[in-house]
Amino acid sequence: MNYDTVAAISTAQGEGGIGVIRISGDNALQIADKIFNSISGKKVTEMKGYTASFGKIFENGEDIDEAVALVFKAPHSYTGEDVVELSCHGGLYITKRVLRAVLNAGAAPAQAGEFTKRAFLNGKIDLTEAEAVIDIISAKSRGAARAALCVKEGALRKKIDGVKNDLLSQAAHLSAWADYPEEDIAEVTVDSVIETCDSAIKCLQSLLDSYDCGQTVKKGIDTVIAGRPNVGKSTIMNLLSGYEKSIVTDIPGTTRDIVEDTVTVGDVVLNLSDTAGLRDTDDAVEKIGIDRARKRLEQCGLLLAVFDNSRELDEDDYNLIESAKSVPSIAVINKTDLDNKLDIKYISKNIKYIVYISAINGDGRDDLTKAVEKIAGTQNFNPSEGVLSNERQRIAVKNALDSVIEAKNALEFGMTFDAVTVSIEDAISQLLELTGERTSDEVVDRVFHNFCVGK
Ligand code: GDP
Ligand code: ZN
Repeated sequence: MNYDTVAAISTAQGEGGIGVIRISGDNALQIADKIFNSISGKKVTEMKGYTASFGKIFENGEDIDEAVALVFKAPHSYTGEDVVELSCHGGLYITKRVLRAVLNAGAAPAQAGEFTKRAFLNGKIDLTEAEAVIDIISAKSRGAARAALCVKEGALRKKIDGVKNDLLSQAAHLSAWADYPEEDIAEVTVDSVIETCDSAIKCLQSLLDSYDCGQTVKKGIDTVIAGRPNVGKSTIMNLLSGYEKSIVTDIPGTTRDIVEDTVTVGDVVLNLSDTAGLRDTDDAVEKIGIDRARKRLEQCGLLLAVFDNSRELDEDDYNLIESAKSVPSIAVINKTDLDNKLDIKYISKNIKYIVYISAINGDGRDDLTKAVEKIAGTQNFNPSEGVLSNERQRIAVKNALDSVIEAKNALEFGMTFDAVTVSIEDAISQLLELTGERTSDEVVDRVFHNFCVGK
């Protein structure tokens, strides 16, 4: 395909050791030659793919910066086109100045996500792999990064291709048999079509099942730490995040507002809020904090309900146990280093997961990790099987699944093979849309809309 040569700053904008200006398109090497002089005297257009050379960037006879030019030749580049990456110093001014020189030398400014879009349009990657690029860049945990990398490397595409190819040959067989009954074509049996449908259903369903877990790993769980004042919420949060953030004090009610933090517990990201203690109060400011905390609690994905091992249950504790019944909860019995006065019978009757810790010295942290992973359902998270990572993908797979189920129902209700073929073809077009093999410009634009310039 033939497009303009485009350029953009591909590294994050800010001060850094290096900044990379990427140029992609038929004239990438010629454009680089207009603004780059290598020390060796070799022109960029004379360089082989996957080679680098050191030199200076200049414009109108003035040196701008030192840089390394790295050359990729089509189709062996990110975009599938000729690419030159200029690594200069990573300053805000310098990178913009180098980009300006490149644009003045004849490149057009790249649009948001244009490099990845070109990779897609040039057939280097499919849509799921393009979407995985964003997921890799935005990953905030090991699990999220691993899942995104597996998709980038084609885990999802391979699985989808498998189902799609089975359905395609089934549909082809069905129509050949219907259209040319007198030819020597193997008979289509209801059993064989049902078999194809069943295996497609199984595969698509397992992909759908991966979605929730994938979202949990990617976005984290909205988690509330609640418990009466002084039970040790802030200390637990500090233990989990590894540094001091909330104010830890001996005066009940000091954590007045919601403190937010993102911590990684095992493979799971928790978006933690350490709330004001849930108690009745006349203090107006504290009351606002408590109301907000209640709301958070009702909507959270995980509640860490904290109890004090050295005290008996009180009214606040009973209220907390009541709230814990309606959200996924872990009862965290804190201060196990102190003498036990807490009777946990009532807690264990109402909350399934109980973990004993001493937040002040870190005892029991591993047990808490295991309980969190169990509730998140991430112990069996297997990203190499391909994980659906966004709503677009989920809807396409859901629609494909529904169509295959429809095809199977049609067979079982004794409908004609024609009706079955229509449903199978619906499923196929959903899958083609998912990978982007057959899709509208609108869908493609929407996917790349989420990228920023330089990617
Ligand atoms: P919060 O009001 O629930 O946030 O409680 P804090 O985290 O502010 O802790 C209140 C007090 O309990 C502080 O003096 C902490 O040092 C203390 N504390 C917290 N966890 C433990 C623990 O595991 N053992 C003991 N002995 N003291 C703790
Ligand atoms: Zn606190």
